[in-house]
Amino acid sequence: MGLFSKDIQTMDDLYLHTLEDIYYAEQQIEKALHKMIDKASDGALKEAFEKHLQETKDQLQRLEDVFSILDKKPKGVNCPAIDGIIKEADELSKEIGDEKVLDAALAAAAQAVEHYEMARYGTLIAWSQEMGRTECADILKRTLAEEEAADKKLTQIAEKRLNKAP
Ligand code: FE
Ligand code: FE
Ligand code: ZN
Ligand code: FE
Repeated sequence: MGLFSKDIQTMDDLYLHTLEDIYYAEQQIEKALHKMIDKASDGALKEAFEKHLQETKDQLQRLEDVFSILDKKPKGVNCPAIDGIIKEADELSKEIGDEKVLDAALAAAAQAVEHYEMARYGTLIAWSQEMGRTECADILKRTLAEEEAADKKLTQIAEKRLNKAP
């Protein structure tokens, strides 16, 4: 593969690729959250997942807004990292035979997802600011705040309600 056959050459290309990465990831997270809501038994955990499903839909819309500011069509690129996090959670949950232990595992898996998202949005905000894309940075900051709040909420629920499972 020669230098010019690679499709990422500039920071602008890398920025767009990362936006497409998190767009794909949010789509997979939306699907996964539906399954996690069904699997969760604890009421507070279920509620937190339901709230975050709504936020995830808003986050997808926000990403579409960012694409539109950049005059790009919203498009996803494969994100093996989020596929792996979701697959690991799925495989683990199939091995768990106690619903309370399953809740603790679901919360932990969801926090791995939130941390992936926080890493991606943190990077995109820094690059947006570097590139003078203030409007994009402001939109992405709203999403980052939701991911951080979701992560904190899961910590609270886990510490108060889930981690004492037998
Ligand atoms: Fe998200
Ligand atoms: Fe990725
Ligand atoms: Zn990639
Ligand atoms: Fe999230």
